[in-house]
Amino acid sequence: LQSNGSAVESLDDKIPKIKFTKLFINGQFVDSVSGRTFETIDPRTEEVIAKISEGDKEDVDLAVKAARQAFDHGPWPRLPGSQRRRIMLKFADLINENTEELAALDSIDAGKLYSMGKIIDIPAAAETIRYFAGAADKIHGATLKMSRELQGYTLKEPIGVVGHIIPWNFPTQMFVVKVGPALAAGCTMVVKPAEQTPLSALYYAHLAKLAGIPDGVLNVITGYGHTAGAAISSHMDIDKVSFTGSTEVGRLVMQAAATSNLKAVSLELGGKSPFIIFDDVDVDKVADLALSGTMYNKGEICVAGTRVFIQEGIYDKFLNTLVEKAKAWVVGDPFDPNVHQGPQVDKKQYEKILWFIDQGKREGATLLTGGKPCDRKGYYIEPTIFTDVADDMTIAQEEIFGPVMSVMKFKTVEEVIKRANATKYGLAAGIMTNNLNIANRVSRSIRAGVIWINCYFAFDQDLPYGGYKMSGFGRDFGLECLNKYLQVKSIATPLYDSPW
Ligand code: NAD
Repeated sequence: LQSNGSAVESLDDKIPKIKFTKLFINGQFVDSVSGRTFETIDPRTEEVIAKISEGDKEDVDLAVKAARQAFDHGPWPRLPGSQRRRIMLKFADLINENTEELAALDSIDAGKLYSMGKIIDIPAAAETIRYFAGAADKIHGATLKMSRELQGYTLKEPIGVVGHIIPWNFPTQMFVVKVGPALAAGCTMVVKPAEQTPLSALYYAHLAKLAGIPDGVLNVITGYGHTAGAAISSHMDIDKVSFTGSTEVGRLVMQAAATSNLKAVSLELGGKSPFIIFDDVDVDKVADLALSGTMYNKGEICVAGTRVFIQEGIYDKFLNTLVEKAKAWVVGDPFDPNVHQGPQVDKKQYEKILWFIDQGKREGATLLTGGKPCDRKGYYIEPTIFTDVADDMTIAQEEIFGPVMSVMKFKTVEEVIKRANATKYGLAAGIMTNNLNIANRVSRSIRAGVIWINCYFAFDQDLPYGGYKMSGFGRDFGLECLNKYLQVKSIATPLYDSPW
């Protein structure tokens, strides 16, 4: 499973110098009010990368004040959409120009594969900003046909000051998918990246300033969730909080919004997605998809298809192929181009995953492959596959957020629909079949926000993304998500001269 260490060493020159470590408020990098810092750790080496300013309530207050000033009196919400678009397009170009450095920051901070960052994540981030830039001058209300002699129309207005709270698993994607539509809508904002991965968010703030986004529009507060995050969700002068993270914390965010100023809330939360394989598929091809459906980004992906349902006719053959492929799946340094899987994000996540693996064994599931840490420094875990997993076992119900797959056997379409729906989550599902009737039926019966038929992780800027049930509400990506950052104002006036 280990990659060749010597290949890794020669790639060390890719590791960037850390340029930005302070809070970004009102267009300036500043120390936190308390002067405190926290350490961000490289999960490959378990060593400190940098000390980062630790923002808390006072810093959130300053950032919100700047964002409020920029919203109430600054140019950004008042600019014609076409001018916001031009500035956002410049921001996207700057992201492309700094691709390698940004990809490397996410690799050292989150353990993400450098090659994927360079080819996929960072270019896709620039495209996401461009997608929403293109929407900035196409935000329309409606003309209404009123029942009386009234003229009525709606205006879509920016919702105001937005608080974005984001997780560590896709530091770049999460940043741009929150910031892009909010900027296009004309909002101002405070972003709190996860404490595990603050580096790229600060770099994006620097690029946004270079692009000409006015001071105060985009502020970044690095710090912990229970302090800086909680200060955002309970702030009296934030109009909307857009949260991505765990279901547990999503609940806290919603409670804080309810007991403060009733700010609008959208939640993108956890998942335990089914990956359903019918008898008629090409086993080799689909086994590749199923494996990466769980192991991609070391399983730290909310839409991971970790409950793999295999129809009984191909069960044995499929499982053998899957295990063979898992054994050839290379774990190692994320800068090594031959590696499929880097280290887990931090010690806490690493220990949590190992606990779930033990729990699977304790509850009687059969460990087919993997199941232990890799024999090297850093938070590396072997790709792990369990069979004989009952639907009510912990590893079939709880989100592990690691490279751990639970395999189940099924017979009929009715049975698999029922079992696929039997969790509290409803984020995504994969359906693998060449039978159109089955694909149609199952896709309409699964209660989840994203369904992939004969593909997995088929993301696109234009494809709305979000959950049913306890996976949250609201959508990221797609034009759909602009509505999260807009208010609808209804305006009515008498159609003729008559006094009303
Ligand atoms: P988390 O909920 O622990 O943290 C997410 C963010 O919330 C972090 O910035 C954290 O600092 C902050 N936070 C923590 N406590 C807080 C509090 N009391 N008040 C306000 N903010 C607080 O999640 P995580 O461990 O960073 O990320 C993993 C989770 O994110 C998984 O459950 C995963 O499924 C989910 N996720 C969902 C999506 C999606 O689109 N649905 C995408 C990525 C990740």
